[in-house]
Amino acid sequence: MKKQTHALLNNVFGYENFRPLQEEIINRTIEGKDSFVLMPTGGGKSMCFQIPALLFDGITVVVSPLISLMKDQVQALKSNGIKADFFNSSISVQEENQVITKAINGDLQLLYLSPEKLLSVSNTWLKQLNIKLVAVDEAHCVSMWGHDFRPEYTQLKVFRNSLPNVPFMALTATADKSARKDIEEQLGLQKSKLFISSFDRKNLSIEVRGQVQKKKKLQEIVSFINRRKNESGIIYCLSRKNTEEVAIHLKELGHSVAFYHAGMDNEDREKTQTDFINDDTKIIVATIAFGMGIDKSNVRFVIHYNLPKNLEGYYQEIGRAGRDGLPSETLLYYNMRDFVLYSQFAEEGANSVMQKEKLNRMLQFAEAKSCRRKILLSYFGEHLTENCGNCDVCANPPKDFDGTIITQKALSGIARMGEKDGITMLINVLRGSNNADIHSKQYFNLKTYGIGKDVSFFNWRDYIIQMANQGLIEIMYAESSALKITPIGWKVLKGEKTIRLTTPISIDEKKKIKKTVKTVIEGETNKDLFTELKKLRYAISKEEKMPAYIVFSDKSLKLMASELPTTENEFLSISGVGMNKMEKYGDEFMNIIRKYKNVAKPRKTPTTLKTFSLYKEGLTPKEIAEERDLSITTIFSHLSQLYSEGKNIDLEQFVSKETIDKVRVAFHEFDRKIELKPIYEKLNEEVSYSEIRISITLILKNE
Ligand code: ADP
Ligand code: ZN
Repeated sequence: MKKQTHALLNNVFGYENFRPLQEEIINRTIEGKDSFVLMPTGGGKSMCFQIPALLFDGITVVVSPLISLMKDQVQALKSNGIKADFFNSSISVQEENQVITKAINGDLQLLYLSPEKLLSVSNTWLKQLNIKLVAVDEAHCVSMWGHDFRPEYTQLKVFRNSLPNVPFMALTATADKSARKDIEEQLGLQKSKLFISSFDRKNLSIEVRGQVQKKKKLQEIVSFINRRKNESGIIYCLSRKNTEEVAIHLKELGHSVAFYHAGMDNEDREKTQTDFINDDTKIIVATIAFGMGIDKSNVRFVIHYNLPKNLEGYYQEIGRAGRDGLPSETLLYYNMRDFVLYSQFAEEGANSVMQKEKLNRMLQFAEAKSCRRKILLSYFGEHLTENCGNCDVCANPPKDFDGTIITQKALSGIARMGEKDGITMLINVLRGSNNADIHSKQYFNLKTYGIGKDVSFFNWRDYIIQMANQGLIEIMYAESSALKITPIGWKVLKGEKTIRLTTPISIDEKKKIKKTVKTVIEGETNKDLFTELKKLRYAISKEEKMPAYIVFSDKSLKLMASELPTTENEFLSISGVGMNKMEKYGDEFMNIIRKYKNVAKPRKTPTTLKTFSLYKEGLTPKEIAEERDLSITTIFSHLSQLYSEGKNIDLEQFVSKETIDKVRVAFHEFDRKIELKPIYEKLNEEVSYSEIRISITLILKNE
């Protein structure tokens, strides 16, 4: 069985190895037992029920509340040659009937259903199906305590009880301990085993920038996306107005961008989402309403224009980047204004105490001076022993020092100015500047005037914000941002408490860090080729009306651009390339790569000729494979090719007459299409791909 599951992963999905826990979950499911799968977004949950679905001789029912995601997953499955379909409110009666017929005739391996539809048909045609597995995706929707409660989910237990011997699998990316128990009970899972995989998404870099003014923030975002031309990203804003403003600004600068928020009508929203999925729009500026039910794997960055309300939301939102496992960037902007605003919302809303508590945690995270990933994961109950090395704090660990005197200088400045002025005025006084305001207020008479000349404006600003963050100063937004000293601040001023501050990073240093991070990420792919491959992918996606990343993920294209596969076997060894996609698209992609190789490098002896000369020396295919460090399948495919080209190769010795006869029957049955996979399956997987290839070569040659 182990061999079979692995072969499916290889041949159908084109992946080399299982990710942690996948194999265990699959094996348990095949044994007919229930499982609870808790993995982060992009962790690879779907594979856990898709592979068993291929092994069972019956149908797997997948319940999911996210209609757009269903379509996506079904398309992705079909593109790998799997028989899958979905049944939800988005399809016509005619389509419904087609799906029902296929399901009843045993022509489907997986059927995706929305919970509403499942309930409405569970006593009719669903009863006729040979259901072998039920997967409940987004299982947290069953819990009333969660944020996505779906009443229909609570009735799934009845369905579960009607299939006592069928394994059930609950899958979700968010569920704390109490929610987990609730979900198990509500779904009626029996002796289910819990599988929790790490929530660490190492490929996501984390960066936080605080107290950046609006104009500067926009400038920074513009230069950020300028450096990432043609890449997909999401920018989350707090308000609808903001989304429109930012989107319009970017659009004026020529970027491919659209906004998305709950105030738009359904049709507009759907179109915006579809365009994004299909790479027709690169950047979406959205309120948090965007992203649920999007499975786009090549989102390269997520920017938060404002502070999110809590860490759960933040983590879910940044999690929409980099689902394909490639390095992706996340950038969070926050300022105290967002915080104050949210605090007010929280005050008025339900569950006020908990919401404020969560908001505080969010702010602590944003202001943290230690590894951000550690903080984030520990919030979700996972404890990293090492710093991550992929967040802004790790990239630039703060140096802290005794800042009591600096703090006292600033606080005494505030006190002497009567707690009426804001940051800029305070710094000007401390630095002894000479301007009209200072004159009119006679601040040059203050004792604190000019006591902070030795510190730059930029550094003062940073220190004062640190003081605010440490609770020594309060910024009164309602009073033109006047600074007030808090009770702890007074303690410091009286010498009853010491304070540590961290050295601000200079702008030069910041630039340096970014540069190193960037070179690490960009790595060694051939950029021009990658662009060409992307173009082809886009063209195919238009032709086949499916999202580009379903044709091939960014990761697969990157690998093609760096490994430069030009034979079927090399192409198959690219992660994400299974038999079906190799046969459908292999030639088109390899042609581009071949062209590129010829241009880039002088032509080497073709690989088939190397095989030929070893063959002439009398080596067996196995020996040639060892000598050349290639797989035996590759060698057989070389020999077949050489044979068709008219070279003197005795192919008949490698395959029996019986086998050729079997292959011939199947070959004709499939209208003599040179596709190995259907034949392989037709012959019960008993004849190897090599043998099929050789047989077809002989059949064609000897007709
Ligand atoms: P989830 O449902 O947990 O959000 P998915 O099932 O959509 O995640 O998987 C995320 C991506 O990872 C998909 O592109 C999927 O094909 C890929 N993937 C899953 N398992 C593996 C694996 N073993 N090796 C490589 N890629 C994988
Ligand atoms: Zn870190």
